Order: sequence, then C-alpha cells, then structure tokens
Amino acid sequence: MGESRIPFNKPYMSGRETEYIAEAVASGKICGNGIFTKKCQAFFEKKYGFKKALLTSSCTDALEMAAILTGVGPGDEVIIPSYTFVSTALAFVRQGATIVFADSRADNPNIDTAKIEALVTPRTKVIVPVHYAGVACEMDEIMDIAKRHNLLVVEDAAQAIDSYYTGKDGVRRPLGSIGHLGCFSFHETKNIIAGEGGMLTINDERFMARSEIIWEKGTNRSQFFRGEVNKYGWVDIGSSFLPSELQSAFLWAQIENIERIQSKRIEHWNKYRAAIEPLQEKLHCRLPDIPQCNNAHMFYVVFDSLEHRTKFVEFMRERSILCVFHYLSLHSSPFYAEKHDGRALPESDRYSDTLLRLPMYYELPVEEVIAAIREFAAIPRQKNEKQVQYRADRS
Ligand SMILES: *Cc1c(COP(=O)(O)O)cnc(C)c1O
Repeated sequence: MGESRIPFNKPYMSGRETEYIAEAVASGKICGNGIFTKKCQAFFEKKYGFKKALLTSSCTDALEMAAILTGVGPGDEVIIPSYTFVSTALAFVRQGATIVFADSRADNPNIDTAKIEALVTPRTKVIVPVHYAGVACEMDEIMDIAKRHNLLVVEDAAQAIDSYYTGKDGVRRPLGSIGHLGCFSFHETKNIIAGEGGMLTINDERFMARSEIIWEKGTNRSQFFRGEVNKYGWVDIGSSFLPSELQSAFLWAQIENIERIQSKRIEHWNKYRAAIEPLQEKLHCRLPDIPQCNNAHMFYVVFDSLEHRTKFVEFMRERSILCVFHYLSLHSSPFYAEKHDGRALPESDRYSDTLLRLPMYYELPVEEVIAAIREFAAIPRQKNEKQVQYRADRS
C-alpha cells in the first residue's frame, strides 16, 4: 500500500527536539535518570498532582511495573475490558494472573461500570479501567467498588494525558492521578511523544519506594544517589524500565508545547464533531456519547454495521485518506480465547466491527477530510441500496 495523502497519524515535532538531544549528548550523560528525565517527571508531578512520576521506555513497561507492584500472581484475578490494547492484559498475564474480561458500555467503549461488581470473586485483586480515546471512565464508582472489596486500581491512561475526570464532589482531577497507579504512553501515535515512551504514576504512598527499585533493575540505586543508603545492591525484582536521556530530551521539547498541541487537536476535534453531527443518519454512523472532558486524543465514529464501515473506509482510501478501525476483542484473541471463561462480550465485539478512527494529528488538513466525508454523505445511498435489494429479490 502506498503512502496516503492524508495519513492516519503523523508525529508532530514541536521544533526543539534535536536541540535538546544535542544538549544531552554534549552533557556527557545520556543514560537514564539524568537532568531531562528529572525535569519531565517534576513537570508532570506539579501540573497533574501525581504523588510520584517515573518515566519509562513505553506504557507497556509502565503497565508491567504496575503489575509487579500490585503483587498479583498465579490464582489471582484481574478485571480488564476486552476492548483494549494487548499490553493492558499482557502485563498481568506475565505475572501469572488470570484475566477476567469485562464488556464495554453501550454508549462508548469504556468498561461498563455497572457490570464490574458481578465479576468480583474472592480471588480478584485489581481492576484496570482504560480511558479509551482519553475519555474518563466512571472513577468514583470504580474506586468505590475497589474500596468495598479491597482491590487495587491501575488506570491505563495511555491515551489520556491532559484529560480530566469530574467526580460527584465537583472536583476536576487529572486522569492517572485517581487510581493507586496510572500508566501513560508517549508512543508516536499519542498526543505528546518520545518515539517510544511512557510513564508510571504512583498515587499511593505504599508503592513509592518499591517503584524506584523495580525501575532500576531491582537495585536501590536511587536511594544511594540521594544519600539515603551508603551502598547499593540487589534488593528486589525489576528490569531496566527507565528511558535514556535521549528519549527524555525529546519528550521535554514536547512538554514545553503541550498547551499548543492540545488546543490544536481540540480545534480539529470540534470541527469534526460539528461537521459530522448533522450527517450521522446519512453516514449510517453514530458519534460517541462523551459525558466527560476529553483530550482530543482520537476522533472516532461507530457505524451501524461492518458493511457500512467498509464502504466508508474504501471511499476515503480512494481519496487517499486513511481511516482505521481499532482493537479486536482480547477475549477471543488467538492467545487468550482458550483461557477465557466463555462469557459473550457483545459490546466489545460490536466496537471491533464498527468503530472507525478518523485521521488526527497536529498538522491535519481537517477541512479536506470533512469535504470528503460530505461527499460520501451526499451519495444517494437509499436509492442505491433499494436497487441492490431489488436485484437480489429477483435473483
Ligand atoms: C498505546 C497504548 C498502550 C501501549 O503503549 P506503548 O507506549 O506503545 O507501550 C497501552 N494501552 C493503551 C490503551 C494504549 O492506547
């Protein structure tokens, strides 16, 4: 397949990325936990109120750290939506836990909160809400369920940087600061990027000290450099989860422009919404019902059927505009289908078949995409479909 005129995603360089990488190189220290890493972490802690933030090489790494910190092992159960990326479940599977997949809501792909409690057993240890498209899950209810059953909550906030949740108390809290732990991604397809990159946020004091040890290959190196212990060594399990200064330098250039990046994306998002809202019937699609703030990570629509989605994708592809679907339900994946308990998860399967993401990136020529969508909506579809129907009836 050749390059699309309008790709689905295009990483945005804010301008100073290579300058900061050169600065890191010139400093003579390019391994992890240096000046840029500390600057990025301090920024996130201050702006979003995370008790502690640790940059990682990816959100997958952050999820693996979270899974280790929760202490789950064989025999333990973790509740995760089926409509999510592989890494959300994989991190806990690697620790030996059993995944209990939950279905999505009917009005958007987030976990259906009303169905969580029925999945809790004496073996349940963790709930992992995924803030799909940066839209907040119902965190008040989820934290209540966790409290009642003594569970931990790990927010998969991979898509949710700079997105917020307003709870029943009226307080607006950043996503990733509400659960015991939170995981973010700075992969090049996300809002702010480092090529590959991620962050673990720790909001519960109990996990502070151990998180640093797991981050630094199971050693107490961080404590040593703060002068808290007089030698460092092997004290726990862990891995090399921290990014190099080259990644952090790149990320710092993005962070400096986060407000500009966010307002541009929100501008595109609002234009899409205004244009598509009156065309939903003609397009055979529905806009998601988004009850809370969103960070314009993604603009997606949900079609009435797989056939309607396929027709639309083909039409856009002919105009060299790339629209892409998203997850395939994890409960029926080749890796997990045999291990799944057999429950049907119809909403998750429906999103697999009918959800479609439109191009979204800083430099997006959004008006061009909208013009193509209007063109598609103007095709006298009803008539076409009746003709097809008529011929089928006669044959
Ligand atoms: C992108 C993403 C991940 C993985 O992020 P990486 O940084 O690529 O490891 C995990 N979960 C969700 C929901 C994501 O969107």
